[in-house]
Amino acid sequence: MTKKYRCRYLAHGLYIHYDCFRHCHLSIHSPNERNNNYIVPYKGPKDKANWEEIFKNKNKLVSEMREGVIPPFCKGCHWIEEFDENSENQFLSDLDNYIDMIWVGHSNDCNSKCIYCFAYQEIVEKRTTKAYDIIPLFKEMLNQKIYNLEKEPEAHVSFAMGEPTLLKKFDDIINLFAKAGNKNFALYTNGIRFSRMTAKYIKNMNIVISLDAGTKETFKKIKGVDKFKDVCSTIKKYAKEANKTDPKRLGVKYIIIPNVNDNKEEIDKWLDLCINKLDVKYLIADVEEHWFVNKCGEIPQYVKDLLIYIRQHCQDENIHFEFYDRALVLNL
Ligand code: SF4
Repeated sequence: MTKKYRCRYLAHGLYIHYDCFRHCHLSIHSPNERNNNYIVPYKGPKDKANWEEIFKNKNKLVSEMREGVIPPFCKGCHWIEEFDENSENQFLSDLDNYIDMIWVGHSNDCNSKCIYCFAYQEIVEKRTTKAYDIIPLFKEMLNQKIYNLEKEPEAHVSFAMGEPTLLKKFDDIINLFAKAGNKNFALYTNGIRFSRMTAKYIKNMNIVISLDAGTKETFKKIKGVDKFKDVCSTIKKYAKEANKTDPKRLGVKYIIIPNVNDNKEEIDKWLDLCINKLDVKYLIADVEEHWFVNKCGEIPQYVKDLLIYIRQHCQDENIHFEFYDRALVLNL
């Protein structure tokens, strides 16, 4: 019997990129295939979103995956699930035509210059893309039940490119979806700007801020801006709100970047700052992506030891902890 596979994002995900729609914002494990994670062109409200074409494309790939054929851009991705080859009827709703996961990625505008960021690389290459008005697209998706909260009440809107709090329509996007009954938002923000709207909807938010440093000197080296204090202040405010409802609503991350912050002294300062001064209850660790890809996932033991060290410290302090994408696939 052939093995059967699925990915919930291939079935129902939509990454809105600057000039096209993609299935997801990932393909980190197949960097050379990244550009093939592409569905149809879309550059803003002047274009008509071709939903028929989008779902035809998704159905084809989903059906092939159910027959054991994994698209090249998905190969190695940890979101692929293998399912019981005797249960033909499992996950048949993967072939239903609706979206339940949106990544908002139509602008790479940012107020930070993180050395590991793909968006920043594009900004350096003078490819900054300002946001177009995305509200008409979202209204269409909600009105036509393309984004379908009835089929999936736990549907998710995630901000996954550039600095979301700089979007002119950031508050409008949150309001629009919240009023439609959307309960889950994910916000990947650099924390330089505090967003009242985010604090207001904290019980529906999953906020991730990558601080990556315990000192302002290291922070500046990584971020290229002198905003350590501002970010700490934002983290403290979000942590205060999150701790009133669910402390896991705010996660603070440390991305290990070789030759920059790959040492215990910096990590200890970050741990102390987050846990004891900013009152953060959920920490995350990862490994820098460009470096990880260049090393083909071969990570030296000292980096693995640092990841394990962070996890151990969190366990000892009773702090929620998680490894993210690259660190996660190391299976430590
Ligand atoms: S398997 Fe991974 S790369 Fe492929 S669609 Fe799913 S999340 Fe994206």
